[in-house]
Amino acid sequence: MATLWHPALSDSPHAWEPVPLPASDVFPLDPAELRRLKPTGMATGSRARWIAIGSGLRVNGTPLSLGIRVLKNRDALTTPDGTRFFFTDEEPARIEAFPGLGEGKPGTCARCRTAIAPGELAVRCPGCGAWSHETENLPCWTYEGAVACPLCSQPNLLGVCPWTPDEAGW
Ligand SMILES: [Zn+2]
Ligand SMILES: [Zn+2]
Repeated sequence: MATLWHPALSDSPHAWEPVPLPASDVFPLDPAELRRLKPTGMATGSRARWIAIGSGLRVNGTPLSLGIRVLKNRDALTTPDGTRFFFTDEEPARIEAFPGLGEGKPGTCARCRTAIAPGELAVRCPGCGAWSHETENLPCWTYEGAVACPLCSQPNLLGVCPWTPDEAGW
């Protein structure tokens, strides 16, 4: 799921608010719009790709050449009135059914190193992509006493994006 960071209302504690982009849709960003590209090939779990279409929009300060551009993670989008938005394609950590590693193979938990069966509840690290159990008996992602993913520095929280414009100094 891709996210568009909007400038927050003035009474918000944060300067930016994440708004999930619709899964299969078009998102107007006057006078341009963002469109999701249809996934290609059979790859499952591949990230959605979005393009910006239309004139008047600047991407990282540069006007859209040819009126179209594939968006990259953390691109800054500026509308003609000077409002800035940020595009990210990172997902916050969430508990989901482990999809299996191709053809329904089990995976290995980054924390406890035992198998994760397809369908078992687990969390995919937004930082490095490694999976950890997150069940009642095996709360490996939110493991008590741990502060980060076993394999990278991503905080082992739920619902937290790896990057926000706030943290980047915007
Ligand atoms: Zn585990
Ligand atoms: Zn990680």
